[in-house]
Amino acid sequence: MNMEASVETDLLISTVRRFVETEMYPHEEEVDQMGYVPEDIGRQIEATSQELGLFACNLPEEVGGGGLGYGPMSLIEREYGKTSHALQSWAARPTELLMACEGDQRERYLFPAVRGEKRELFALTEPDAGSDVMGMKTNARRDGDDWILNGSKHFISGPCMPDFAIVFAATGADETPRGPRKRVTAFLVDVGTPGFDCREGTKCVSYRGYKTFELHFDNVRLGPGQVLGEEGRGLELSGKWLGMGRIWVGATCCGKAERILEMATEWAASRKQFGKPIGAFQATGFRLADGAIGLRAADLMVKDAVARAEQGVMSDADAAMIKVFCSEMLGKIADDAVQIYGGMGLMEEMPIQRFWRDSRLERIWDGTSEIQRHIITRSILRPLGA
Ligand SMILES: Cc1cc2nc3c(=O)[nH]c(=O)nc-3n(C[C@H](O)[C@H](O)[C@H](O)COP(=O)(O)OP(=O)(O)OC[C@H]3O[C@@H](n4cnc5c(N)ncnc54)[C@H](O)[C@@H]3O)c2cc1C
Repeated sequence: MNMEASVETDLLISTVRRFVETEMYPHEEEVDQMGYVPEDIGRQIEATSQELGLFACNLPEEVGGGGLGYGPMSLIEREYGKTSHALQSWAARPTELLMACEGDQRERYLFPAVRGEKRELFALTEPDAGSDVMGMKTNARRDGDDWILNGSKHFISGPCMPDFAIVFAATGADETPRGPRKRVTAFLVDVGTPGFDCREGTKCVSYRGYKTFELHFDNVRLGPGQVLGEEGRGLELSGKWLGMGRIWVGATCCGKAERILEMATEWAASRKQFGKPIGAFQATGFRLADGAIGLRAADLMVKDAVARAEQGVMSDADAAMIKVFCSEMLGKIADDAVQIYGGMGLMEEMPIQRFWRDSRLERIWDGTSEIQRHIITRSILRPLGA
């Protein structure tokens, strides 16, 4: 075992854990009840993450980021997963897509995002195109050297009003052996650009206080410098950088599952019925045992995926398996915890109902469980030509 690496890892975990426990846990309840994160609390989390070197820790050192590898990042995400996304997202990890910025885009978008001066949104989902990304209607047509963007996006999330959005739009179609396929291009669109309306959208009951935005584009004129990456390669670009996103969801789910299991265990050991702690009844104790097995397996799967990613051999199916397994493991633990708490599990004054609501989202965003299973099925059947 590399002792130096292990000491560094322990230090990283204890630093992030202390940060989450002291600056986020105390605000969870009020944020959930109010439905928003007060600006001063969000800014304090942002400032502490900068002091600790955790802000933009996912981006390379040469652009001012923390330069952390996949292993340390998975440990950080696991600790952040223990609390609400509404709070932990203020300790930002700007999207790796920004690494595709070129020329003056680096000064206008990448570096300000790394320094915490600008916040971005990742805008793919539309009201009529969720799982079916290729059903997108948002489009951009050329007008000389410029582009004219039209359409709308929803469920686009972030901790606060953004400064710009990375917007995916159809910019034509390519002929393929399976018929025409939309060309999708990523654009950097500043909030405040004429014709771009960015407003808060509907409120989600998971991670209350984490905002979703609606984006509307009405003949928004964009110069050639607003294209991120290559024209027509937007989905390849997002796929390249966001494969790891599903691993981070997995790590997040492990952290949250651990915290829920701890609470359920304490309750099972202290709540008495029929003169015994309820954990002594097999039906309750086995829920804890199954939860512990699921969490152990999920942690190992995340570790395995990180190792594969480090070796450059992680596939889309690997990432999909982590996303399905870890989010469903969390869903089961959260639901079992409510059962262990009995009626108290659903009372507002107990945190369990909040964790149950928060956990539900993990099976939906970043691609639903069904879509992940499609990806896995395809990887199994395609080699057989089916
Ligand atoms: C809080 C929150 C934050 C989000 N943040 C962002 C963000 O920042 N950026 C962004 O771009 N998106 C974001 N999303 C969108 C998210 O990724 C989508 O909600 C998700 O991909 C599912 O799309 P949908 O909600 O339109 O569901 P739908 O696609 O309408 O799916 C509804 C149901 O049908 C099932 N289904 C659909 N197609 C199939 C199929 N072929 N086979 C089997 N089942 C199928 C789905 O699995 C699901 O169960 C966010 C969503 C939420 C709720």
